Amino acid sequence: MEYHDSEKAKEVAGRVEEFMDEVVIPREREALATGEEITMDEIHEMWEMAKERDLFAPQVPAEYGGQGLDFSDMLPSFEQVGRSLIGALAIRANAPQEGNMHTLEMVGTEEQKEEYLRPLVQGELSSAFAMTEPKVGAGSDPKMLQSTAVKDGDEWVINGHKWWTSDGLGADFYLTMVRTDLDAHPYEGTSIILVPRDADGVDVVRNVPHLGGHGITEREGGHAEVKFDNVRVPVENTIGEEGEGFQIAQMRLGGGRLTHCMRYSGMAERSLDVAKAYLQEREAFGSKLEDKQALRHRIADAETQLHAARTMVRHAARELDRNDARIEVAMSKMFAANVTNETIDLAVQCCGGNGIGKDLPIAHFYESVREFRIVDGADEVHRRSIARWAFEDVDEVEIENTLQFDDDLRIDALDE
Ligand SMILES: Cc1cc2nc3c(=O)[nH]c(=O)nc-3n(C[C@H](O)[C@H](O)[C@H](O)COP(=O)(O)OP(=O)(O)OC[C@H]3O[C@@H](n4cnc5c(N)ncnc54)[C@H](O)[C@@H]3O)c2cc1C
Repeated sequence: MEYHDSEKAKEVAGRVEEFMDEVVIPREREALATGEEITMDEIHEMWEMAKERDLFAPQVPAEYGGQGLDFSDMLPSFEQVGRSLIGALAIRANAPQEGNMHTLEMVGTEEQKEEYLRPLVQGELSSAFAMTEPKVGAGSDPKMLQSTAVKDGDEWVINGHKWWTSDGLGADFYLTMVRTDLDAHPYEGTSIILVPRDADGVDVVRNVPHLGGHGITEREGGHAEVKFDNVRVPVENTIGEEGEGFQIAQMRLGGGRLTHCMRYSGMAERSLDVAKAYLQEREAFGSKLEDKQALRHRIADAETQLHAARTMVRHAARELDRNDARIEVAMSKMFAANVTNETIDLAVQCCGGNGIGKDLPIAHFYESVREFRIVDGADEVHRRSIARWAFEDVDEVEIENTLQFDDDLRIDALDE
């Protein structure tokens, strides 16, 4: 499918595709076949190769060691990396690191960029974003945020309980969302504070056991439960302006949601490719499976849906490069999450037992993609925002002019 991405975007994505096909996917397949974990040393070697090929961290400005692409131009490269379980990691474009880099780059001070962003891009540091909380706390409704930071002289004193903090086990620092003004509405009284992992009072309780997590790399990021007990950090660790935590999180999540769409679209596309190859090889009931119309129609539907999702994400990326694009991103995220889930489910079905088996990547994709309908806002939460937007501009005059019934008659009719 030709999407008329920019020449630059296509050129970089072409090189990313080569890197995936020559280096990353063969290593992924070998690891799946042998059960031998890919070590972090190997990932570091991939980073060096990606740097030599000018593919490393496409989303990061060149001055911090990346390729300096905007959302539209990084899109086809992110689709390419989504084709492999380790693709995004191999070029340092994986969540949540990529979103945290974006946040630091957008609102970090020069000192924070030097101390945290530069080494984060190079993989010398790892990070996590800690917003979600257990029990009564931030989740679908981030206004429920309970964690707090109180100023004591030139320090913040932080207390809170977080979970589902991706990459939280190995993180060197957490971008932590906390209430900093309890009298203000959470939209105005919340801040993001950088908390080093080794600060006194930080307790990484556990990896929350979960579906997915392919286990083919030595260090799985995991999703951590983390407690902050009277943790003291300097006030200079505030990320962006004090009280603007919601606005910053919204900026981070807008891009983060779209890059998820890009990577999962690539995953769905590879699933379909594998499924089609299987159908072309395998025979049953007197002909190749590829000739069964029941399957052909389902493949046709999946191709159509995936094309619609990829087109939508491109539109949202273009809007996000210009503007805030909140509704376009919400629509894309909800639609792409469902399409990629359905597509990968179909691929499992088409491959029969091998769809469940883990020689192929599809079963891993299946386990991995389910989270996409929940993480970064569940389907229902995006529907809520889209519906609110949809009802904002309803033209009441139009309705009155169209429905020309007599009010008295209508009341009579309702009474009967
Ligand atoms: C793999 C993974 C990685 C994650 N990584 C991070 C991370 O790095 N940092 C972080 O802070 N968080 C992270 N999260 C948390 C994620 O953002 C939340 O799980 C998500 O926002 C939903 O919040 P919740 O789990 O508290 O669900 P809840 O708020 O308890 O909601 C439960 C369900 O209720 C339904 N629901 C909610 N609101 C409505 C509504 N208005 N109408 C109808 N139905 C509704 C939805 O179906 C929702 O799934 C991660 C989660 C997962 C699964």
